[in-house]
Amino acid sequence: MENGLILLIEDEAQMRRFLAITIKGHGYRLIESETAKDGLMQAAMRNPDVILLDLGLPDMDGIEVIKQLRSWSDTSVIVISAREQEEDKIRALDMGADDYLTKPFSAGELLARIRVALRHKTPLQPGEHIFSVFDMKVNLSMRQVFIKDAEIHLTPIEYSLLTVLIKNAGKVVTHTHLLKEVWGANYANETQYLRVYMAQLRRKLESNPARPKFLINEPAIGYRLKLS
Ligand code: CA
Repeated sequence: MENGLILLIEDEAQMRRFLAITIKGHGYRLIESETAKDGLMQAAMRNPDVILLDLGLPDMDGIEVIKQLRSWSDTSVIVISAREQEEDKIRALDMGADDYLTKPFSAGELLARIRVALRHKTPLQPGEHIFSVFDMKVNLSMRQVFIKDAEIHLTPIEYSLLTVLIKNAGKVVTHTHLLKEVWGANYANETQYLRVYMAQLRRKLESNPARPKFLINEPAIGYRLKLS
């Protein structure tokens, strides 16, 4: 999979250079765009595997780019944002972006995000029903969770929360997304529910709940089930 086609939409020349060196240096093919309009056109013409999208573009709001893109494409989108664009980042994820990177980020972080994005939409292939990460094994057809082969009892809410994270394994899942999936649309703002239930999940599944290995908090954004 090291020859995926990546579309980079970024207006800052210096940032583009850094990204281009890293991306091409690891065997990926790269298309560069400086504007949202050109980016959308390239996305339609070249059908890239992953789109890296800067949210602060001169000709269009990055959120609008995602909205337009999502009306006809399900290509993985990783948004690149500045720290002060925290709110935009959350909106971008809720609008259908798959992941994000906050400037400044390292080449290692970028490549890790690209690898996750290049894997298929779901870490489980059709027909597969065992998901495992670190010491945890989940049998999705039997709804059973094991830590080092000992079965762990989860409440229905805890299990549901875990499966939403598994479906999006490796990627950040926003608070709003998790709340809607697990509790329903009316609960989209009840982030304290998440805190309570994530703490319970960590107590049951992590060997050191205070320093979780895979149930990772993404401050102000959501949670990520880390794969390695
Ligand atoms: Ca920019």
